[in-house]
Order: sequence, then structure tokens, then C-alpha cells
Amino acid sequence: MKKKKHASSSLAKIAIITLLLIVLCTIGRVSLGSQVHNVKIVLSDSYELNVITTKKKVSEILEENHIVVLPEEKVFPTLDSQIEKNDEIRITKDNLVGAEAVASTEQTEKVTVEDMLEKYAPIVEKIVVEQVVIPYETVTKDISNQSDETKERILQEGKDGLKEVKYKIKYQNEKELERKIIEEKIVKEPVDKIVQVQNAKVASRIAVAPRTSASGTKATAGAVYKVTAYCSCAKCCGKTNGITASGTKAQANHTVAAPSSFAMGTKLKINGKIYTVEDRGGAIKGNKIDIYMNSHAEALAWGVKYLTVEVVD
Ligand SMILES: [Zn+2]
Repeated sequence: MKKKKHASSSLAKIAIITLLLIVLCTIGRVSLGSQVHNVKIVLSDSYELNVITTKKKVSEILEENHIVVLPEEKVFPTLDSQIEKNDEIRITKDNLVGAEAVASTEQTEKVTVEDMLEKYAPIVEKIVVEQVVIPYETVTKDISNQSDETKERILQEGKDGLKEVKYKIKYQNEKELERKIIEEKIVKEPVDKIVQVQNAKVASRIAVAPRTSASGTKATAGAVYKVTAYCSCAKCCGKTNGITASGTKAQANHTVAAPSSFAMGTKLKINGKIYTVEDRGGAIKGNKIDIYMNSHAEALAWGVKYLTVEVVD
């Protein structure tokens, strides 16, 4: 049984070696012409093969023919010697011990055949779609006016996005050879992280401000307010009609939402501009003012500012 198996693998080997010979002959004729020579290799199991090669070094000829020399085997002439035309390489085994030697020979053949087959494996192309995370970016808004003492506040937490990338991948023997991107599709846009760099001194003044309004003092002339911005979107208002709490249509550069300590219609001077209190908001309490803007993007760009708010007549 064992002998038969051995014989059939030898047949396969002969077929592959023949193929290799043809390939080598072709390569030889095309590129190197006269340098081709014939070498006989005698393996330790007394199997013989004739190879045509352009190489002269023993180790290179063996490598070229996928012949693996085991530690217990000896090569004559030695691996780094040069070989002449019509020469012979002989591989012998040191301590031949029956079954063990046969087993290791079979293993050698297996490695050799697989190595050879690898060279003739077809290339397979596959389309693969992978989901790739798009990391969020951090946007810094500096409103510190070049102050020495600054403090960072996170206005908006960042969220990673997601995209689907379609690749064309070339495989040989399940090994990836090449990968090309054919298409990219964004599934979820990332959300920027917004960090505001502000004057640390202003920030500490703000911390005091809520006490003023909590004590019931009507904050009017020159008090510092936390001024944010909003638009008519559902995110900002929970509705999208743009109608204010006072019933007017909200207008950019005009409408502000202020706490109930300011009567509707009160004119406020913020950053040198005059606004009118026309709106309220659930979050607009104490020392907060919300300025109406045309778009959500503009409102986001405004962020949060701590500004002096004055009542004007
Ligand atoms: Zn909005």
C-alpha cells in the first residue's frame, strides 16, 4: 500500500518536473540562450532527475527545482560549490533507519510538490465590501482673544462615521496579492468634536453669574450672558415652522430667545448689535440668551460665547 502511494506521488512529480523543464527551456531560450546546461540530481531515495538550468551554484539549482535538503541529509558537491556542464548533484542520507527514513522522504516530496504547484496556481479576483470607520475631527474655536490663561470646553462630543468601501482583491492560493478601491459610500457622516478655547478669567466670571439671577436681581445693564444660537430646525426647536413664542416669524439678526425676566419685545444689545426678545426656550433660563440664525450650520459655527448683554430703550 505504502509503495503504491509512493509511486503515484512520484508520477505526479514527474509530470510537474516535465512541466518545469518546458518552462525552463522556454525561459532559457528566450533570455539566456547558451548559458543553459544540464544537471543530474540524485535524491536520497535514489530518485533521479535531469534538470536544465542557467544556474551554477548547487544551492541555487536545488532551490530552483524546489528540492528541500533535510538536516540529516548531505549534499555532494557542497551547497555553495559551482557545477559544470553535465555534472551531477547527489543527496545522501546519513543514518538510514527504515520506516523513519521513508516517512521523512515522503514529507520532503510533499513539500516539494506543493511548492511547485504554488507557482501554477491561478489568480482569483474577488469583490469585497468592508465597513470602515471614519474618525471624527476635532474643531477648535479660539475665543480667548490671545489670553495667556485659557480654558478648554467641549461644546460638542465627536462621533465616528462609517463608510462602505468596495475593493477588488486579487488572490493566489488564498493569499492576497493586490487590493484596489473601486467605490466608497458614506453610511454615516462623522460628527466633529468642537472644543472652545476661552479666556480662563471670563470663564470664572461666568461661574459667578448664575448667583446673580438666582438671587432675583434682574440682570440688565452690562451682565455677562451665555449666548448660544439656534435655527428653526427640529433639533433646535422640536418643530420647524419658525414661529416664535410671541407668535412672530423668527428672523436672523433680529430674534433672540431670552428668559422670562425679559419681557417680549425688549431690545438687547449683544456684541454691538440690537436684537429683540421674541422667543423663549426650555433651556433658556437664568443667564442664557439664544440668537436666532438662518441655518443650523451657522448656529453651530457660533457655538457658545460669553458676552455682555445690555438692555436698550
Ligand atoms: Zn437648528
